Amino acid sequence: MSKPPKPLVSVKDAQLHYRVGSAFSAMRGHSSVVKAVDGVTFEIQKGESVGLLGESGCGKTSMGRLLLKLEEATGGEIQFAGDALSGLKGPALKRYRAKAQLIFQNPFEAVNPRFTIRATLAEPLENAGIPAAEREGRIIEALELVRLPQPQQYLDRYPHQLSGGQLQRVVMARALILQPDFVVADEPVSMLDVSVRAGVLNVFRDVRDRLNLTAIYISHDLALVRYVCERTIVMYLGRIMEDGPTEDIVREPLHPYTKALVAAVPVPHPDQSHDPLPIGRGAPDPRNPPSGCVFRDRCPLAFDRCAKEAPALRPAGSRKVACHLF
Ligand code: SF4
Repeated sequence: MSKPPKPLVSVKDAQLHYRVGSAFSAMRGHSSVVKAVDGVTFEIQKGESVGLLGESGCGKTSMGRLLLKLEEATGGEIQFAGDALSGLKGPALKRYRAKAQLIFQNPFEAVNPRFTIRATLAEPLENAGIPAAEREGRIIEALELVRLPQPQQYLDRYPHQLSGGQLQRVVMARALILQPDFVVADEPVSMLDVSVRAGVLNVFRDVRDRLNLTAIYISHDLALVRYVCERTIVMYLGRIMEDGPTEDIVREPLHPYTKALVAAVPVPHPDQSHDPLPIGRGAPDPRNPPSGCVFRDRCPLAFDRCAKEAPALRPAGSRKVACHLF
């Protein structure tokens, strides 16, 4: 029997805990710990697209930052192509930075407003030691890849002279210009006008497929994740609630939190109603999460065991679920 392929990304019991409160309150023992990521385990195969889904504050952006080593995990281990991120330093870290890229949420905050588009795209090439004579060609190629027509016309413009959709394509081009293997896209269309979102998403999907990129797509919007990703990981208060094929999760969600997210997706028909989020708005204060299952104070199915014991993430059919009901 052939061995399963080695994952490109391997996350084992990852944690990102940090202390909040002033130095004075810490001295008095009144500071508290926020567990932005708390015991998260998953693997990603090369070429896979995985959505990290959840409400604001669920830990999905923190998880993305850990994967890119923009934050240092306070526990557990994250590996990329077999190498532990915690051990990457100097030239090895520089190589990882070229292979693993972030596409930012807000394109206007992702670029220096004083840099032309040429300078914006030349910067990563220069940092990577690409000779000056090669840079202009690579810049044009990257802008063509993200389907900006007649790319030369943009090179001497400044960010404020581009529309949000055009600038997000430039941000995407910058992330792709060093030909990465792995991309984390953090809500890349949430700041864009609805009318241009589909175009940018189509470019993202097209580029991902053409380059066989491994991608993490962070979003609070299940419909967008469904459009972009074949697999979805649902997070809540720093933990994974459900992980499996996106279509299975959308058609038959198992975890009560996933059920609530699916029920809240608007139905694109004026005569059909959809259930409002049946769990009330807002996750609890992350400094003071419930005991046992972190979802229990919003869960309509909670029972005694849920307060005493945190459910492990266990296999359930095509996916994994963290709930005592499975
Ligand atoms: Fe609800 Fe209990 Fe399952 Fe948590 S473990 S999701 S509280 S039923």
